[in-house]
Amino acid sequence: MSDADRLLREIFGFDAFRPGQAEIVEAVTKGENVLAIMPTGGGKSLCFQLPALSRTGVTVVISPLIALMRDQVRALQEAGVCAGALTSGNTPEETDAVWESLERGELKLLYMAPERLAAGSAMGMLRRIGVSLIAVDEAHCVSQWGHDFRPDYLRIGELRRALNVPLAAFTATADAETRDEIIEKLFDGTPPRSFLRGFDRPNIHLAFGAKNNPRRQILDFSAARRGQSGIVYCGTRAKTEGLARALREDGHSACHYHGGMEAEDRRIVETRFAREDGLIVVATVAFGMGIDKPDIRWVAHADLPKSIESYYQEIGRAGRDGAPAETMTLFGPDDIRLRRTQIDEGLAPPERRSADHARLNALLGLAEALKCRRQTLLGYFGETSEPCGRCDLCDTPPDVFDGTTAVRKALSAILRTEEWFGAGHLIDILIGAETDKVRARRHNQLPTFGCGKEYDKRQWQAVFRQMMGHDLVRPDPERHGALRMTEGARPILRDEATIELRRDTIRKADRRPAVKA
Ligand code: ADP
Ligand code: ZN
Repeated sequence: MSDADRLLREIFGFDAFRPGQAEIVEAVTKGENVLAIMPTGGGKSLCFQLPALSRTGVTVVISPLIALMRDQVRALQEAGVCAGALTSGNTPEETDAVWESLERGELKLLYMAPERLAAGSAMGMLRRIGVSLIAVDEAHCVSQWGHDFRPDYLRIGELRRALNVPLAAFTATADAETRDEIIEKLFDGTPPRSFLRGFDRPNIHLAFGAKNNPRRQILDFSAARRGQSGIVYCGTRAKTEGLARALREDGHSACHYHGGMEAEDRRIVETRFAREDGLIVVATVAFGMGIDKPDIRWVAHADLPKSIESYYQEIGRAGRDGAPAETMTLFGPDDIRLRRTQIDEGLAPPERRSADHARLNALLGLAEALKCRRQTLLGYFGETSEPCGRCDLCDTPPDVFDGTTAVRKALSAILRTEEWFGAGHLIDILIGAETDKVRARRHNQLPTFGCGKEYDKRQWQAVFRQMMGHDLVRPDPERHGALRMTEGARPILRDEATIELRRDTIRKADRRPAVKA
């Protein structure tokens, strides 16, 4: 694992880079002058924070908003990074602490408001402390024509000249005039390495599928793409071997790959994959870093990835040559349960856990999206776009129906049994199945018993899966995965909100006349 990947995991707690981040991190770490344009929320701060940790010396961060600086400093300190801010909002103790850590040579990131640069002493101080990088957040503030102009930003160019160190400038404002002005004022007119590629990978077709028979589904998908190089990602090491064997039996050239294999065996797979045409590698996420085969024609997920970031990174390995590439991601309730449990039982501190749940929710939202997947995906990364025409939902818009009544019935079954049961038992109650467990708990006497006979078991499973996808219910690891209602479900229960569900997955299982909406 590279240094950057290790820091990403260990310090920042992320399992994958967001679109664009890896390239920027690499350039900044190397000490190139960089101008990076990323949408708001795209994850700019990581692009200077992570390099600051890999480089020797202090990184000075110029940022216009004191509150934002304080937030970042606090988050870095909590992650065990030595960071400090010199702002007008400091208490004397805070300022002293910053000086002390500077003197001890421990400080890695020093945040400063641009006004500070005006003080005559600042330049001398910055010369003494061994600054090795200047990072400028909200770099468009140098633009005199923009509405965020901050005169003190004009001193940054001077600072760069005086210290003679690389500078990395970040902004979300992408118009050409602002860009030119940033280059003029911060880089003395010498164009830095610039990153302004959008996040979209238009040649990659996006698709999700409800998992019902994953082996069959993967075999069908690859049978339709015989002779093409592809990757199948699995959630566990054990699965990779079996699936690779099944693919070979189906006449493909396929092998497995995971982090538990001998380094030598892994290298053989990597080399074969790079050289051979049409090899399928069935792998865990350990496969991918450092793989830069341009003509991977497809990527399939036999299990749901960890987060929307991991998803983007993994499908992004397909079609680097720009030619059409296809992806398919399978997901089912077991995946959701597994990912939630991994988060809850992981070692991460509580606040990181809730962020991990949120990133998983974003992926589930994408999986259960009702309109263009690319729009949903790019929207999450801050980019707005039109319906793409190259995703499963654009190909066949899903048939949706008002699922409010069904969802309310399911929620009521959950609440009547005091949030102590999983989907299987709840479904038995809804369809009125007199199982031993139902009788033993007297759940056949609940008013909800048999109130959902309009659907069969599989249809209710689809409803529950979509409810999990919309984060209306979550399995509670402390109750053996019993489903509990989330805050998000309350408005539906109270009749203040309605919810649309996809009909296709429900109808597929339908053996009876069409379901009433
Ligand atoms: P901006 O580009 O608007 O400055 P931030 O740097 O504040 O964005 O990042 C936005 C959010 O994205 C933050 O909550 C941050 O924790 C999260 N984030 C950044 N990089 C990643 C990543 N690689 N994986 C997951 N979340 C990330
Ligand atoms: Zn689309």
